Amino acid sequence: MNPIRPLVVIGAGPAGIMSAITAAERGIEVLLLEKKNQIGGKIPVTGDGKGNLTNVNLKKRYYHSCSPEFVLPALKAFDFQSTCHFFEKLGLKLYIDEKGRVFPYSREALIIQKLLATELKRLKVEVISGIKIEEIRRMGSLFEIIMEHTPSFYAQQIILATGGLAAPQLEATGDGYRWAEKLGHHLISPFPSLVQLTTKVPNFHLLPKIKLAEVILTLFIDEKRLLEKRGDLLFIPHGVSGTAIFALSRAASEALQQGKKVAIQINLVPGLSTEELTTFLHEKKKNFPQQLLLLLLQGILPEKLSQFILKSLNIDFDLPVGLISEYMIDSIIESITHFFLPITGTQSWKYAQVTGGGVTVEEVNPETMESKIVPHLYFAGEILDVDGDCGGYNLQWAWSSGYLAGKSAAENS
Ligand SMILES: Cc1cc2nc3c(=O)[nH]c(=O)nc-3n(C[C@H](O)[C@H](O)[C@H](O)COP(=O)(O)OP(=O)(O)OC[C@H]3O[C@@H](n4cnc5c(N)ncnc54)[C@H](O)[C@@H]3O)c2cc1C
Repeated sequence: MNPIRPLVVIGAGPAGIMSAITAAERGIEVLLLEKKNQIGGKIPVTGDGKGNLTNVNLKKRYYHSCSPEFVLPALKAFDFQSTCHFFEKLGLKLYIDEKGRVFPYSREALIIQKLLATELKRLKVEVISGIKIEEIRRMGSLFEIIMEHTPSFYAQQIILATGGLAAPQLEATGDGYRWAEKLGHHLISPFPSLVQLTTKVPNFHLLPKIKLAEVILTLFIDEKRLLEKRGDLLFIPHGVSGTAIFALSRAASEALQQGKKVAIQINLVPGLSTEELTTFLHEKKKNFPQQLLLLLLQGILPEKLSQFILKSLNIDFDLPVGLISEYMIDSIIESITHFFLPITGTQSWKYAQVTGGGVTVEEVNPETMESKIVPHLYFAGEILDVDGDCGGYNLQWAWSSGYLAGKSAAENS
């Protein structure tokens, strides 16, 4: 039988690594198990490979969970300053951009992973990667970690930090959910978040790759206005992406999962008022009646989008502006300022940056990250029903919850 370990951390992503480092710093012998051949979880792909590791504006409102207060003790125990200090101590020079997002000065996410690996080594954390865990069982006061090809590991305490379901191409499998359920925990059904939204509107394929800056989006759930966001919008083959869509995607995805009706309304020209557009079209109608309506619209919106709007209103591309009716002018302006898009789904997990839902936080102590159901079982990171907005909030959750889980496990052993 393998010797009994004081603490085994499962999953060497940002949350698991932070848990292991924090516990090892307090003198506990830690074994860190990772399925992949390499540690670091999703760190290398974060922030488009630039590694957006936290955000200056760390507030509760940027996090989502069935219990919104849950994140507070962890974010307090390991806050923005602690995060910066921790990484600076590892040797990382930090850069803060105009949105408060924090990156390595080199804008290379990989350096975060390398520095964490060095710290694990310095603290003599035993890391075993490329392993296959079959199951985790409670055995009296111990945990048995049953392996596929090798003898079981036994642990007095374990921290589950196996992440969620987002980005399965990076081997996110949701194994941790299965083990947590077997140990008696419940899940809030996981759904993709920070993800593109899809639509079945006809002719949408005519718009791919059009990008608009700083549009205003309003999200409607069951025909009720829920949220308004401003940001970039990118048309993709069967849907929409961009910062503005990501900002709404959590609420949209959750509502879709609950079978609700979802739609977005887009002001494609937020810098232009209805009055300005009306005056513009009337002036052209009066002074340049031979000018083609399509050409006039192209001065306001990209060609393909202008064509799409005219097509959806059944207006001929070759119509001279002199022949447009008042009704047509109103309809065109309505379409530009209130572009309506019924949303039928999200892109698949492959395109999601994070998981909404997960192990319900109602069954986890927010002051320690310890299970309220199984003593000496802890959770950290995305496996929990906590997800953050875009901008460094998810990695910050991994650092903060990992820190708290590691510290609590060390103090409890
Ligand atoms: C494309 C993309 C871009 C992102 N950009 C940002 C960003 O800029 N800023 C930000 O804050 N967040 C970003 N995120 C989100 C962020 O990466 C995650 O929220 C964060 O990595 C979660 O950390 P974690 O440790 O909980 O899980 P993960 O990073 O998923 O790590 C979990 C680890 O557990 C391992 N594991 C899983 N199952 C098993 C098993 N059965 N046995 C052993 N090990 C297992 C996995 O292999 C992995 O190494 C991004 C995500 C994606 C996909």
